[in-house]
Amino acid sequence: MTHLAIVKALLHGNFRRLLEIPTSALFTQSHLRLVLSKHSAMQQSWSIHPTLPSSCHTKAWWKRYRIRAALGDSGPWHIPPPLAAAQLPRTPAPHTPTPTPHSHRAVGSCDPGVSATSAHSAGLQSAYTSLGRAEGDAGSKRRQLHELSKIMAATEKHNSVEPGISKLQFVPFTSALDAGFWHELTQKKLNEYRLDESPKVIKGYYYNGDPVGLPARLTLEFSAFDVNAVTPAHCCPAIGTLYNTNTFESFKSCDKKLLLEKAANEIWEAIKSGTALENPMLLNKFMLLTFADLKKYHFYYWFCYPALCFTDGIPVVQQPVPLGERFSPSQIQALQKAYDELCQKEGVTALPCFLIKYHNNSVLMSLLKNWNEFFQDPGEKVTIGVYDPGNFAQYPGWPLRNILVLAAQRWGSHLHSVEVLCFRDRTMQGVRDVTHSIIFEIKLSQLALSPDCPKAVGWEKNQKGGMGPRMVNLSECMDPKRLAESSVDLNLKLMCWRLVPTLDLEKVVSAKCLLLGAGTLGCSVARTLMGWGVRKITFVDNANISYSNPVRQPLYEFEDCLSGGKPKALAAADRLQKIFPGVNAEGFNMSIPMPGHPVNFSKVTMEQAQKDVAQLEQLIDAHDIVFLLMDTRESRWLPAVIAASKRKLVINAALGFDTFVVMRHGLKKPKQQEPGDSCSSSITSSADLLGSSLFSNIPGYKLGCYFCNDVVAPGDSTRDRTLDQQCTVSRPGLAMIAGALAVELMVSVLQHPEGGYAVASSSDDRMNEPPTSLGLVPHQIRGFLSRFDNVLPVSLAFDKCTACSPKVLDQYEHEGFNFLAKVFNSSHSFLEDLTGLTLLHQETQAAEIWDMSDDETV
Ligand SMILES: [Zn+2]
Repeated sequence: MTHLAIVKALLHGNFRRLLEIPTSALFTQSHLRLVLSKHSAMQQSWSIHPTLPSSCHTKAWWKRYRIRAALGDSGPWHIPPPLAAAQLPRTPAPHTPTPTPHSHRAVGSCDPGVSATSAHSAGLQSAYTSLGRAEGDAGSKRRQLHELSKIMAATEKHNSVEPGISKLQFVPFTSALDAGFWHELTQKKLNEYRLDESPKVIKGYYYNGDPVGLPARLTLEFSAFDVNAVTPAHCCPAIGTLYNTNTFESFKSCDKKLLLEKAANEIWEAIKSGTALENPMLLNKFMLLTFADLKKYHFYYWFCYPALCFTDGIPVVQQPVPLGERFSPSQIQALQKAYDELCQKEGVTALPCFLIKYHNNSVLMSLLKNWNEFFQDPGEKVTIGVYDPGNFAQYPGWPLRNILVLAAQRWGSHLHSVEVLCFRDRTMQGVRDVTHSIIFEIKLSQLALSPDCPKAVGWEKNQKGGMGPRMVNLSECMDPKRLAESSVDLNLKLMCWRLVPTLDLEKVVSAKCLLLGAGTLGCSVARTLMGWGVRKITFVDNANISYSNPVRQPLYEFEDCLSGGKPKALAAADRLQKIFPGVNAEGFNMSIPMPGHPVNFSKVTMEQAQKDVAQLEQLIDAHDIVFLLMDTRESRWLPAVIAASKRKLVINAALGFDTFVVMRHGLKKPKQQEPGDSCSSSITSSADLLGSSLFSNIPGYKLGCYFCNDVVAPGDSTRDRTLDQQCTVSRPGLAMIAGALAVELMVSVLQHPEGGYAVASSSDDRMNEPPTSLGLVPHQIRGFLSRFDNVLPVSLAFDKCTACSPKVLDQYEHEGFNFLAKVFNSSHSFLEDLTGLTLLHQETQAAEIWDMSDDETV
């Protein structure tokens, strides 16, 4: 599952798929923000606490999260619930201003037009704000939660001091904008709105089943732009208006007071005309003012939930009490049943408001529009139910405000008092609970007499608790390059999660790979390395791309062949960067000097050869693994010598027509372990031989190289050859097979605890317990495409090898370029003389003569 798939799973509420996400550190804060912003939707299946600490992206946390989620656990997560008033310490918190009495204004009133709000509401608001976001550290969050509880405690105290005359206060909404919302806004802005600033209709929703301690959130997600989109089950929809400005200036200079007045007037008109009675959704309006900086993925926004105000507040006749304290379980059950039946009748899963009549164990419910028929008896007790997103035992949520204004406007003149049920309906551990709903009685003022629109409040405060916009930086989630990176990583992590739990990906991803040759093999190796998440890939090649290349070499296209062709190494590096910008790819357009290809034509050619050697030495130094992917035998010689001397892992791949060999060169032991004299090395080898027979249990440092099996030194193989012999003409699939095997061999070697020193697995080991989580670590893979067969031979290092024998390495290490120049400029007899191959040839020939003479005697 990729990052995108996670986002999709979250956006579509597909929580089953979330359970498939690996326990990985890659699952970062930005994912979690998505999880959190989906919080309310999650509540329906299993809930999490949205105020997760930053440590929650650890493996342990995510593991617990998955397990609990799988068990269907919906209890509050991780953070202790806010302390009850009685449990609060009495010492004032350092940054909390002393609460001041604040009764007639709403709790945390969001009103820019009216005078500055009190410290009380500012503190509360800031606490809310931080609650609504998974930002900052756990400590500060807990502290703020703490402060919030203190403020609430102080308010309760104040209320109890002056009973009877307290005024109703409301918990404001907190905006919860999903990353998916911003993503969709970006798409709309780019493809549809462009410079159009006209208001757009959008849709949000709120939920009444949150655990204690959560702010009342109004959530907007990717579906907000589709007004006909289905509202999540058990959530209440809210219709809003989006004002997206083209510039930051117009965002700042927008007349917020005017916007609020306009929205308030619309609500007021809906109340007066009666349309709000038919459709109570008209009371749940909101506005969103935005500016999207799409270059930086910074989004500025300001939310507003217009609420009409009673000039003198709303006197509380009877303080709020939990439903569970007022009614018996059977009465509560009857209430629940009546609510469910009304929902069912209306074909919805949530009702924003409803009318209630109860008597003993019977509860009747009806819609707001049926008021006159429902409450026929003038002396009857009037109870209004409201779907309440709030969580506080003492305060109703914001949506009640406009409902009360409507009730006052229409029936206030003949109502002495109204009972309000703030319906809160949560399911915890599979058990539905509405007992924490609150019920209270208020007195409705004579609003009906005034024809003018009442004053309205509603702009949301920012994170600092002041009147100002908020900003969200989504560069991490929205930048496609980063998205690609985390997707690649996530894909690999999936392997570790179930299939190969012990896979050490870091060893693979951090491997710096040098690819000598950017032809058919080089292209296939590079692509497979990218698949493994390798981030450092360097090409060396001296050829240009020709017209025959693109069909077999997957990093090139026809365009690359035009006007002489681009240099392969550079074009390959460019293409890798295009395929995946997260890769660090480089190309070096240079030749590798070869034995039997003289460089002593002039001073210039000598200097060039010296430069090339120095460059190659430096490149091999700077990488961990050297891939030999050239198309001639002799071009592999120099890098094989340098890499053997520098103790770098070499992976070699070579093609025939329908055969290939992929091998790792033996990795010599570090130099300090061999003091240089042959005596000590013979001691170690005799000890090693105890556990190894000729072709089994051969440790990596005793394995041969590409040249070890040869009794002829490399020379100019292109001389005296026809065209089909000069170029590697092979079956087209062969390079991809061999290239892929070369990388897989590298990965297997890296997974072995001893790396390049790993004992070579042979074909005989196929039935044995594999040495790594990925299986065998062979020395060679020889493939025969005609038989669709691979074998895994193992061969020892040859003490007369022209590339890795101690004689050659000593000469190279002591004489450097002078020695190399001799090799380049001489025929192969030079190396053969040096290593003793010449002598061996003579002995062999002598032996053959003896054999033949034996035959003749028979
Ligand atoms: Zn060798």
